[in-house]
Amino acid sequence: MRILVVEDEPHLAELVKDHLSKVPFAVDVARCLDEGHALLSANRYDAVVLDRGLPDGDGLGLLRLLRSKGDATPVLAATARDQITDRIHGLDLGMDDYLVKPYDLGELTARLKALMRRSGQKLGGLQTAGNVALDTVRGSAEICGVPLALARRPLMLLETLMRASGRVVSRQHLEESLYGIDELIDSNALEANVSRLRRTLADHQATVSIHAVRGVGYMLSEVKNP
Ligand code: CA
Repeated sequence: MRILVVEDEPHLAELVKDHLSKVPFAVDVARCLDEGHALLSANRYDAVVLDRGLPDGDGLGLLRLLRSKGDATPVLAATARDQITDRIHGLDLGMDDYLVKPYDLGELTARLKALMRRSGQKLGGLQTAGNVALDTVRGSAEICGVPLALARRPLMLLETLMRASGRVVSRQHLEESLYGIDELIDSNALEANVSRLRRTLADHQATVSIHAVRGVGYMLSEVKNP
C-alpha cells in the first residue's frame, strides 16, 4: 500500500510518515501542490492525505484536478479549517473523508484503511491464499494458527502478492509498493525480501509458493503437493 502525504509543515509531515510507515505503508511526502501533482502523475497511490493550506494554494485544487482527470484515488483532507461550509465544499469536489487538525495519528490510520477498503482494494479483514491467512488490519500473517514472524517489508510483499494471487506482479509494482521514492533501493533488495518470505513460507509448510517470472516479476500461487 502506497500513500502520498501532501503536507508543508516538515515536523508534521515527518510524524505522519513515520507513523504510517509502521502500519506498514510505503509513504511519499509532497510539500506543495505542484510536488503533489508531479508525484500523482508519476506514481500510483492507494490513498492521498491532503493538507488544505499549502504554500501554492488550497489542497482542494489538487483534488479538483485529480477528479477532473477521472482519477478516483481515495483522498482524505487534513485541514485546520473546520468550518462546516468548507467540509461540504470538499465533499462536493469528491473528497472521500476529512480530519480536522490537530488529528490523532491512530485515527488517521484507521480512516485511511476504511477508505481503501471502501475503494474495493480488499484491504480489510482477512485474506487467504492456500493455508496462509493474512490480517491486513492487524498486520499479521499465520498458517494453521501459527503466526509467521515476518519483518515489515516481507509482510508488505506478502500482502501485495496475495492481493494479486495467481497473477504475475511486475517487479516495478512490487518495488513501488515496498519503498517510498526517497528510499534508495538496492538492486537486490526485492530478491532479498522474496527469499526471506520464501524461507518463512517453506518453514511453515505453506501451500502457496512464490514463482519468479523471468524478466517480469513474481507470482504467488497454490502448490498441489507442498
Ligand atoms: Ca499547511
